Amino acid sequence: MNAAETCKTAEMEPRVLHVDMDAFYVAVELLQRPELRGKPVIVGARPPRGVVSTCSYEARKYGIHSGMASVQARQLCPGAVWLDGDFRSYSDYSRRFIEILRRYSPEVVQLSIDEARVNLTGCEQLFGPAQGIAHKILNTIYRELGLPASGGLANSGTAAKIAAELAKPAGLAVILPGNERTFLAPLKVERIPGVGQKSLPRFHRYGLYRIGDIAATPAGELQHILGRWAGRLQRVARGASGSVQRRRPESPSRSHERTFATDIREPERIRREIRGLVEKLGFRIRREGLSARTVSVKIRFGDFETWTRAESLDEPVNTDRLLFEVAMGLIERHLPEGRGVRLLGVSVQNLVSDCRQLKLFGAQDTRLSSFYKTVDGIRERFGSNAVQFGGPTGSGGTSWRWA
Ligand SMILES: [Mg+2]
Repeated sequence: MNAAETCKTAEMEPRVLHVDMDAFYVAVELLQRPELRGKPVIVGARPPRGVVSTCSYEARKYGIHSGMASVQARQLCPGAVWLDGDFRSYSDYSRRFIEILRRYSPEVVQLSIDEARVNLTGCEQLFGPAQGIAHKILNTIYRELGLPASGGLANSGTAAKIAAELAKPAGLAVILPGNERTFLAPLKVERIPGVGQKSLPRFHRYGLYRIGDIAATPAGELQHILGRWAGRLQRVARGASGSVQRRRPESPSRSHERTFATDIREPERIRREIRGLVEKLGFRIRREGLSARTVSVKIRFGDFETWTRAESLDEPVNTDRLLFEVAMGLIERHLPEGRGVRLLGVSVQNLVSDCRQLKLFGAQDTRLSSFYKTVDGIRERFGSNAVQFGGPTGSGGTSWRWA
């Protein structure tokens, strides 16, 4: 068998590794505070408000889990140690975690702060059998970061995620090729990502308790029960391979975000922060000669719940005023009033070069464009605070008069 044939064979059998850090926030905290090891530790908003973000395995023994109301968690384990969370440090470890994965495969999809999918299909030629690579990856994470992670190796992302969940903590579960359906059959349907408390009664009503029940139900019947979801679920249940994602060129985006020492909630403060982020972002993309067709905002609440909302525009924009209008519009439409905000971010995607945009400029826009050139020139020389627009910067300022 020559190299090309080996490659082809390898590609026909997808090998996907799902990696999930164990009790991630707590594990990072324990690096700083080893004296808390072996104790029930909870990261989240302290009672009476908020929910549990993550808790240690010791706390889980009391029945505590992510998303549980803090009040209830305290009732279950009054002696637990509560920590506020140090998001900067979590993001830093998350970045390093992803960097390790990228050493082993060019195809890494980050799914959340502590979870990622690594396509190992075809990587065998470089690193040996997929199972060995998976072990190596988990060991490297532990050795370099001091953090435990679990992995699942299978022929599709979904099966790999299910396997990783079973492997916790600090384990690796491998579903051997050809064994997928048998492996999944005895597991409860709620093991499938996306099947939760809300949809579970529907499965049970039709006698679907195990993944094997989904596999065995005639397709038409399942369609009737679950609608459009049926096809995808049945493919997973029957152990079908996931399509191997080809590496797409990264869609360029630029973003700025800011984490606050204490949660902010006043509308005026939020406007001011968004304005600051937009000015930095606008400066950056104009300097690169780019305009954006999509603007998004990221909001992380005090309990770490994170939302991203995006808006796509008919015409690409790059002025502070337009970027601000779109970003602020998203915030106003989606931010529940009075909820504490830990982090705000603004990003732009679908970037186009200004050469294209210049054609769209009318006389006024050309003036605007040279105006920004001047402003950005000043900012470049004297720093981003050298020029600021808008009304009074104090808390009473409500009107922003950007050019
Ligand atoms: Mg995790």
